[in-house]
Amino acid sequence: MSSYLVLARKYRPRTFPEVIGQDVVTGVLEGALREGRLGHAYLFCGPRGTGKTTLARIFAKCLNCEKGPTASPCGTCERCLGAEASSEVDVIELDAASHTGIDTIRELRDEAIYAPMRARTKVYIIDEVHMLSKGAFNALLKILEEPPAHVCFLFATTEPHKVLDTILSRCQILRLSPLSLECIVARLDEVFASEGVSAEAGVTTELAYAARGGMRDALSQADKLLALAGDEPTLADLRRLGGEGGAREAQELLDHVENADRAALLRGLAAFHGDENELVDRLLEVLRIATVLAHCGAETPLVSLAGEERQSALARGERLGPERLELWMSELVRARERMRVLPSQERTLLELCLLDLSRSETTMPLSELVERLRALESFAAHPDGPRSDDGGFAPARPAPTPPGTPTPARPRPKPRTAEAPAVSPLPPAGAPAPPAEDRAEILPQPPPTPAPSPLASLWEPFLSELSRKHGALANVLRSRGGAASWREVESGVVHMELEDLQPDEDKLTGDRSNQRTCARVLSRLAGRALDFRLVSEAAGSRKTSGKAAAAAPKKDAFTHRVSDLFGGTIEDL
Ligand SMILES: [Zn+2]
Repeated sequence: MSSYLVLARKYRPRTFPEVIGQDVVTGVLEGALREGRLGHAYLFCGPRGTGKTTLARIFAKCLNCEKGPTASPCGTCERCLGAEASSEVDVIELDAASHTGIDTIRELRDEAIYAPMRARTKVYIIDEVHMLSKGAFNALLKILEEPPAHVCFLFATTEPHKVLDTILSRCQILRLSPLSLECIVARLDEVFASEGVSAEAGVTTELAYAARGGMRDALSQADKLLALAGDEPTLADLRRLGGEGGAREAQELLDHVENADRAALLRGLAAFHGDENELVDRLLEVLRIATVLAHCGAETPLVSLAGEERQSALARGERLGPERLELWMSELVRARERMRVLPSQERTLLELCLLDLSRSETTMPLSELVERLRALESFAAHPDGPRSDDGGFAPARPAPTPPGTPTPARPRPKPRTAEAPAVSPLPPAGAPAPPAEDRAEILPQPPPTPAPSPLASLWEPFLSELSRKHGALANVLRSRGGAASWREVESGVVHMELEDLQPDEDKLTGDRSNQRTCARVLSRLAGRALDFRLVSEAAGSRKTSGKAAAAAPKKDAFTHRVSDLFGGTIEDL
């Protein structure tokens, strides 16, 4: 029976080029070897599983290769083979966590003065060096003050601040960074491919999320997963193992935030039993990837997610736009700080933050706000000019057109997701706008000669996409509205009339954020920005239902433009 080698050992890098994600450190060491500027003590510090001892072992091999010292050891000489088999007598590894006392270091000091037996350099690799006792540190310091020429010390630690300053000042300090999510995913994909493992989409991402920057953790979790699930592991297997990183939960929660579905958001949070801080990390990571894609485009190598995951991150980036994504990230970071101050209320603070984000008005990017103000300014100056704003959620808008010029159709990026059905867009919004008086009407009268609606072709795609985002809402629109119930009452504004609404349906369709969801779906399908209002037969226009609004003068176009742009209801004038 062939012995099984755990993945972390089997795929441990053996040369500098095989080390991933630590380019600075490998560059420094390779340079030192090439130039012959070799120190007597190096300290590798960084989080667990980032390759500290791996780098130390590679460096030891480089120092002792018979063709060296060299940055590219031959791998075939006796020294290289000894190093790879961990049988080199002149490379001594010590775990300071289990040998903290002064005696170990004294012994080491007595041995160090003797020349190496076979190799060029006697290398001491001391892991977790911060665990040494004070006496041991002082004994170590004595050797470091006058190191024998044939000795090199390679220390590794996760906590450099616990190492005595006098030791630190005698070492070259090399800082390793946690590996990026993309880095770990890419490596796991490679390892799975060469192991003949075909994992369900998303498994390597979940493993990488859970590993929190450490490759060794990712690989050892992968080992357990393969032992449990064989060669075709699924996300369900990973959940059984308890090794899921919360990426799926984070995606779903962000979907609820985006759709302003606060009930689902709270249910989702209640179902999450992990650590709140980790969940915030996951949320931030999901948003960060979407931001990178939104800024750098679909093909950017900065994100190594592939397939469906990349598509869904890309779609989120396009829907929200970089500014809103960045704003959401800042809010989450702030929530994280508050959670640190008030740890007993972590859950509540996270809920508060996400609920807040779900209200697009409270987290409107400044540029969007400025644009709306500009639109208002231009409207105030030229109330008869054409409308140019949809008042909706669409995050990225071009600069407003100068007042008085006709509004061209807003250029929109073609939806890149495969799910968008191929439909011809609505006619561009270049048609002359109705006079200002009409615009101020709450419910403009239908045109005297009804023309066939160009919206009709979008009805089915609209419903099917909406039902993916908000099934209940889509059902109400299907049963209480129908394809004949919507029309573009003016350029860029679509109204849908609903009949016989039950109270709960009335509440659902009255929610402005639900209407915005409809607007987003419709705009995407139509290829241009459209505002969308659900109008119930009984209650009149949503926007102005209630007696306060009824009392508002109907012909004040400016006031209604303000409420169009910023939402809210008119209380008094
Ligand atoms: Zn060699």
